[in-house]
Amino acid sequence: DRPLQQQPRARRIGIMGGTFDPIHNGHLVAASEVGHRFSLDEVIFVPTGRPWQKLTDDDAPVAKADQARAVSPAEDRYLMTVIATASNPRFTVSRVDIEREGDTYTVDTLRDLRRMHPEAELYFITGADALESILSWQDWEELFELANFIGVSRPGYELHVKHLAQHLEALPPDTLQMLEIPALAISSTECRARAARGRPVWYLVPDGVVQYIAKRKLYRSPRASSPGVS
Ligand code: ATP
Ligand code: MG
Repeated sequence: DRPLQQQPRARRIGIMGGTFDPIHNGHLVAASEVGHRFSLDEVIFVPTGRPWQKLTDDDAPVAKADQARAVSPAEDRYLMTVIATASNPRFTVSRVDIEREGDTYTVDTLRDLRRMHPEAELYFITGADALESILSWQDWEELFELANFIGVSRPGYELHVKHLAQHLEALPPDTLQMLEIPALAISSTECRARAARGRPVWYLVPDGVVQYIAKRKLYRSPRASSPGVS
């Protein structure tokens, strides 16, 4: 009647992918809340390289021509993510997406992280808005085999999976779970627009990120970049 040997449980790793242009408190609350509710040992933030749905600086001539937005350099987005997560012992940042050539697809992110953490349980965290378009993601069937998915609430979007229900039927019940998190109506788009107009982003993004945006003069609109000249 020896006590049963407790098997050490698999390491649980959350993955928070994003453009993080800039990272804001909505991202951090989502990662923190999922980390707590799912007893995650670590949450890895993964800034995208070239997001396939967004233009990057490399596309600048085209982007300028059609007024689309160029994404900030990967190194700036990476550093802001490091600054924002540095004080949390469970938060880390990965360069897998920014170091991979070509466009960023979530399936590649998950394949890489799966390879680097073969024993771990992976939990991919995604906001309600991103969840809506999941069926348009490349190789989405494989996504659900590589990781569990946690859909988190986001103000302005409905957290539902009606459009996924049919596809989820064949999969284990934990494949996609929904979680209500504290509502922060913050988006990177709004932070960039504020910075461009000289409005404050204090308390929307961590202090160090406010300072980094100022130091690197990110998101300045062409007119705002030469104050006093107009
Ligand atoms: P942008 O406005 O440039 O699209 P964003 O604020 O949506 O930026 P992303 O980097 O696109 O930020 O998002 C990364 C992930 O974080 C996505 O899964 C997104 O749904 C989620 N997310 C972003 N903001 C919030 C928020 N306020 N609450 C919950 N989830 C969020
Ligand atoms: Mg977004």
